[in-house]
Amino acid sequence: MNKKIDINERLKFSEQIYLPEIMKGMWYTLKQMFQPVFTMRYPEERWTPPSIFRGRPVLVAREDGTERCVACGLCSRVCPPLAIYVQADETERAQERYPSIFEIDMLRCIFCGYCEEVCPEEAIVMSKEYDIVFENRDSAIFNKEKLMTPASALTDRLTFLHQYKNPEEITKAATDLKN
Ligand code: SF4
Ligand code: SF4
Repeated sequence: MNKKIDINERLKFSEQIYLPEIMKGMWYTLKQMFQPVFTMRYPEERWTPPSIFRGRPVLVAREDGTERCVACGLCSRVCPPLAIYVQADETERAQERYPSIFEIDMLRCIFCGYCEEVCPEEAIVMSKEYDIVFENRDSAIFNKEKLMTPASALTDRLTFLHQYKNPEEITKAATDLKN
């Protein structure tokens, strides 16, 4: 519960001279110096995020280097800051449509993950990449070449998504383990 503050209440003598309060603050700081360190010396030390982490969105590439994306446009429709631009085209491949242009304006992206959520093909996923640097506005627009990432490098996230979208499988596995 918050302590009620009476604005007419006078400070105690110890509070008026400040010194005890300053000593208390210094004692607290001194104690913290001997606590275990949990910060990292970035960028020399890098943090490896868990699979639940939402880093920059990327396009999933198949083993043959082609994109899973079928250019349905759902991700661009759902993207709150309108950061995605997709231009659909036809292809001879089995999926029939592919994005001839796929761009994400990373100055707009808010890492919400909606694009990943709606994608029917698991073609766009949130990666573990979090250190993104731009030298100018143009370089912040990531084209297909920059977005394409092999599925083998996204195994963690793809497995996480599979479990997230099929919770009944986890429940079943837990029940099987118990029996
Ligand atoms: S993560 Fe959110 S803001 Fe970024 S591209 Fe996807 S839908 Fe748009
Ligand atoms: S990334 Fe997914 S949602 Fe976006 S256009 Fe391609 S298939 Fe559709």
